[in-house]
Amino acid sequence: MEYLPALLLSSALAGLALWRRALTLGGTLLAFALCLLITAVGGGTAFAVLAVTLLGTVAADRFAGERKDPLSVRRKSGSRDAVRVGCNVGLAGGAMLLYALTGKDGFFIAYAGVMAESLADSLASKVGPLSKAPPRDICTFRPIPAGLSGGVSLLGTASELLGAAVIAGVFALGTGRADTLPVITAAGFLGAMFDSLLGSRAQAKFRCPVCGQITERESHCGEAALLASGVKWMNNDAVNFLSNLFSLLLAYLLATVI
Ligand SMILES: [Zn+2]
Repeated sequence: MEYLPALLLSSALAGLALWRRALTLGGTLLAFALCLLITAVGGGTAFAVLAVTLLGTVAADRFAGERKDPLSVRRKSGSRDAVRVGCNVGLAGGAMLLYALTGKDGFFIAYAGVMAESLADSLASKVGPLSKAPPRDICTFRPIPAGLSGGVSLLGTASELLGAAVIAGVFALGTGRADTLPVITAAGFLGAMFDSLLGSRAQAKFRCPVCGQITERESHCGEAALLASGVKWMNNDAVNFLSNLFSLLLAYLLATVI
């Protein structure tokens, strides 16, 4: 794409993020740079994939409303800073950079796979909690408190599939390549499942020394909570980064066989 339209679209997106206070200043600057890179390299289709992912996330937020967290198990997530933007969109930008450098279609498809995973994960984390039944751990299948990572529900899993398929559809329409539909849908959906798997097995969970609640917060009831399972540094940003990496690699590999 020409640089001027890419610059205008990226500025509009960054302005919107600042105006809605969705991102910190550092987060906005990084998002602007990534959006500029993605749009300049991938043109209208790449921008449409990015915009639908962001708008889908915002729409799911509105639709689901404030998530209930009566036991305070979820980490408080404030305004999105540069680290969070980097963990969530950084690899998408990396795939586009590789596409620009090598001209290999597989990296463009991998970019869409990463974004499909992002939208699938966002929809599942917003829509899943609306399920009447308590979520179950993806590994043990035992009921766990709503909001704790690693929980799955039928509604959440269905919304993961929908999110991944929507991004695959946008990409296929934009590029005229229907053969990428199953690749991007599978990469996004399986990446979101991998996210739940890491959330269940690897993400740090703490036990409150006062009330005994298992939580993702490092303190509870005013006391420092003790590591109960998982790896101490493995927080939600790290899980998102690794799931994106999973989707990138899977989409690239699947793209080589179509
Ligand atoms: Zn407590």
